[in-house]
Amino acid sequence: MSFFDTPIEYLKGIGPTKADVINKELGIFTFGDFLRHYPFRYIDKTQFYTIADVSVDVPSAQFKATLISKQLVGERRGKRLVAMVEDHSGTMELVWFQGLKWVDKQLIVGQEYVIFGKPNAYGMRINIVHPEMELLKDFKPENATALQPVYPSTEKLKSFFLDSKGIMKLQRQLMLSAEKEIKEFLPSNILEKYKMMPRAEAMREVHFPSNIKQLTRAQARLKFEELFLIQLKLLQANKGRKLQAKGFLFSKVGEHFNQFYSHQLPFELTDAQKRVVKEIRVDTNTGYQMNRLLQGDVGSGKTIVALLTMLLAIDNGFQACLMAPTEILAQQHFAGLAELLQGMNINLKLLTGSSKTKERKELLAQLAEGEINILIGTHALIEDPVVFKNLGMVIIDEQHRFGVEQRSKLWKKNVQAPHVLVMTATPIPRTLAMTLYGDLDTSVIDELPKGRKPIETVHQYESQRMKLFGFLEKEIAKGRQVYIVYPLIKESEKLDLINLEEGYQSIVKAFPMPKYQVSIVHGKMKASDKDFEMQRFVRGETQIMVATTVIEVGVNVPNASVMVIENAERFGLSQLHQLRGRVGRGAEQSYCILMSGNKLSADAKTRLSTMVKTNNGFEIAEIDLQLRGPGDLQGTQQSGVLDLHIADLAKDQKILQEARITAQEILDTDPYLEHPGYADLRKYMASQSKSREAWGRIS
Ligand code: ADP
Ligand code: MG
Repeated sequence: MSFFDTPIEYLKGIGPTKADVINKELGIFTFGDFLRHYPFRYIDKTQFYTIADVSVDVPSAQFKATLISKQLVGERRGKRLVAMVEDHSGTMELVWFQGLKWVDKQLIVGQEYVIFGKPNAYGMRINIVHPEMELLKDFKPENATALQPVYPSTEKLKSFFLDSKGIMKLQRQLMLSAEKEIKEFLPSNILEKYKMMPRAEAMREVHFPSNIKQLTRAQARLKFEELFLIQLKLLQANKGRKLQAKGFLFSKVGEHFNQFYSHQLPFELTDAQKRVVKEIRVDTNTGYQMNRLLQGDVGSGKTIVALLTMLLAIDNGFQACLMAPTEILAQQHFAGLAELLQGMNINLKLLTGSSKTKERKELLAQLAEGEINILIGTHALIEDPVVFKNLGMVIIDEQHRFGVEQRSKLWKKNVQAPHVLVMTATPIPRTLAMTLYGDLDTSVIDELPKGRKPIETVHQYESQRMKLFGFLEKEIAKGRQVYIVYPLIKESEKLDLINLEEGYQSIVKAFPMPKYQVSIVHGKMKASDKDFEMQRFVRGETQIMVATTVIEVGVNVPNASVMVIENAERFGLSQLHQLRGRVGRGAEQSYCILMSGNKLSADAKTRLSTMVKTNNGFEIAEIDLQLRGPGDLQGTQQSGVLDLHIADLAKDQKILQEARITAQEILDTDPYLEHPGYADLRKYMASQSKSREAWGRIS
């Protein structure tokens, strides 16, 4: 067992009780884990600001100033002490809410202080609440030369004296013995190329920086290391799959594919669609198993690519299946594909949770006999009784809705894994895709079918509601249909429902029966009621659909041309974009109207203006990543791949790029890292994969 695998309880000052809390609260079990518990920021007491330079953008600021006034204000619970300080550049307000008497006694007007604290925005001004104050004449500069690490902690940990300071002490303790154990493993040519700080030094500097410059270098080194190891693993997995060469060979483009392509295709494919079909054909004709991600914005035409891919499988003697996340979506796929395949000799079937027992039995028998060519369905497809005769191609729509485990079950539906194409309409920023799906090959449909009119998006304030109603009236008079969507946030489900109900009532009042028909759909309704209302809208029997976000995925009503999003400031960017994608599916000009209150946070403003500015899902995804960070983006939580300790996919794009290229270059010449120069790297990776077995990534 290596030093780094030593259980954390053996660190002096921890013991079994604290170790247990650390395990549970932070997922830290060993010395190695603990060393990777990096500070998330540093208190910088190495420099002095002038008051004019203090902004809310710095996490904390230190400055020298003279106390010019102090005053107790407010009554009872609102009571506080407000002081003003001044330097040559300006004045700053300091505020205390607690220990007022004591603080008041300490502060002496006319004296000069060293002041340290976190700047807050307070109206148009900046103030500091509960600053640290020290008389300038008592201030010892040597106490203020270091960057002080701040570690993530929790309430529970704090009750065991493991606040940031407590953790820092333990880190110091551990570093004493750890530093000499930390071995370099990056190959020397990489270290030289990037002038990288050696590993042991980087670990020390990141916990106990000697100055900003060293800290920055240390962070860069550790970020690179983290991302580089991930990229090596992902690319190795991808290469490994290809080297093993164990995939069904689709050697020919046959009768069904050709017939469909020449006679049934209702439109010409876009160049992007053609390119992707070609990529898939090349993949499936090499003898290795395809594991490909297809990204394409809503409406970019992924379904037709899926169909062509399935026809390819059929022509080569295989069955294919298409799995969708919801029943409505599966039904729509079934109906849509049945229409496209009309007149062709292809047996297409639908299997969902609500398929009747008798039908189901028949269907399963046909499937096992190989009589069914294409099976479409929901989660029902992955259940054990679903046995194919010869499944060769699996297509998964809206893949982020499925867990890895669910998907992997489909892999096992044949003696040898079928080819897999996963499709997503949630554009993923490049850096994230590289990390989340770095072991997949990716295809992108980055072009919409010709003749689509871009959706016009506007942002309107609550006060402009009458104008909105007028606009809706006109659109409905033209025969169009309208969605009105309300937010649904779990914590306040009741309130949201009231919102929705009130919204519905006001709509019904403004658009009265019998001239107008209004549908309502929300998550608390019975599935059958939801379906009934949905179908009324799909058939055009209702003009307005009032709904919560349950309509986000799937539904296709080409005649719906207006999407109104209420309280748009409460939605995330990708959700707004998904919702907008429900319109713009027909030939008519479509509109998306974002309604919001007057008071908006800076982030909310950015989200709304981004929506107004662009229809491009990839651009939106990049901005979303910048705003929220990777952890909150769709699909990242379930993956576990983003188990990053120091790198940040939103901020470290350049390092990621370098890490990826470097890993690629190494594997191109030496796929198994056999060169003696890579021995340490190989050893380190082996030791890592032993302690973390969660790396069986499947599509
Ligand atoms: P998504 O990528 O969101 O799944 P769909 O596959 O549902 O998109 O396609 C959206 C609409 O665009 C469908 O009505 C489809 O028939 C149509 N479509 C797809 N490709 C083309 C094309 N090349 N030219 C014209 N219309 C197309
Ligand atoms: Mg689709």
